[in-house]
Amino acid sequence: MKAVVIHAAKDLRIEEREVEALGPGQVEVAIEAGGICGSDLHYYNHGGFGTVRIREPMILGHEVAGSIKALGEGVSGLVVGDRVAVSPSRPCNACDYCLKGQQNHCLNMRFYGSAMPMPHIQGAFRQRLVAEQWQCHRIADGVSINEAAMAEPFAVTLHAVARAGSLSDKRVLVTGCGPIGALAIIAARAHGAREIVATDVMGAVLKKALEVGADRVIDVASNPEQLSAYSANKGYFDVQFEASGNERAVRSGLEVLRPRSTVVQLGLGGDVSIPQNLVVAKEIEMKGTFRFHEEFGLAVDLIGKRRVDLKPLLTGIFPVENAVEAFETAGDRTRSMKVQLTF
Ligand SMILES: [Zn+2]
Ligand SMILES: [Zn+2]
Repeated sequence: MKAVVIHAAKDLRIEEREVEALGPGQVEVAIEAGGICGSDLHYYNHGGFGTVRIREPMILGHEVAGSIKALGEGVSGLVVGDRVAVSPSRPCNACDYCLKGQQNHCLNMRFYGSAMPMPHIQGAFRQRLVAEQWQCHRIADGVSINEAAMAEPFAVTLHAVARAGSLSDKRVLVTGCGPIGALAIIAARAHGAREIVATDVMGAVLKKALEVGADRVIDVASNPEQLSAYSANKGYFDVQFEASGNERAVRSGLEVLRPRSTVVQLGLGGDVSIPQNLVVAKEIEMKGTFRFHEEFGLAVDLIGKRRVDLKPLLTGIFPVENAVEAFETAGDRTRSMKVQLTF
């Protein structure tokens, strides 16, 4: 089978790999669609992020869906031919955090396509993937395989919403409208947010933000005053989903958040400095959010029941042979939101 393997920054190769043996409780999935994520792009463009570096060749990818080709011993509830979205979250279910229901903090997590541990956890951009039955979520008839492959990034934002708490009656600010920011808009709407304002520095992505349900968008590169107007009377927003990782977005968010509001940080920008006095005086809660676990099933369900429409975010589909072109395209924010590979 073919697999998409990263060797170092800008060294992405299509290589032949053996299909893994099928064990009890496992299924063999013919992968049909795989979305390129920000983390995949970091490996491709920079060879890693933060202190995480590629130290051995690694198959990329963790946003995948396909159809079942073979069943291992003891698998029930799935049949050959079923179309499934595959959760990349593979916790041990035995460590302290797993036993507390915090699987996203598993000490032995084997999340696809991660260079954090050594040996690296090989990813899912491959023609055949052997997965545990419990990772596979059947997708509804009429849902395309490409939509199903967006369940993973959508689950990230559903977890962020869970971290924020109830959004009923809440005014929401989303800063950064890449795929995750845009999906956060969709997730916030699905959870009853009263009003959603989104910011970015690029017109193209702000258009998408409007298309997927933002009530208003602000280009903070050309019209920063439109955002700062919300700082009157100690602020306007109850919740900020910060998806840019940009220091200015964090700082300007603190200006326009109301007292006792919540910032949920999704973007990873490294070290930033923030005005402590605003956090203290407004009693602002700052929360991180990391991956997801049980939200994957919810994501598949909301997509399947047409409660959300993720299709507008899909901006490109490339055959696996053109993976390099796909990665270059995915990294260009002027023309791309979510780019997928087909296998
Ligand atoms: Zn992802
Ligand atoms: Zn664990």
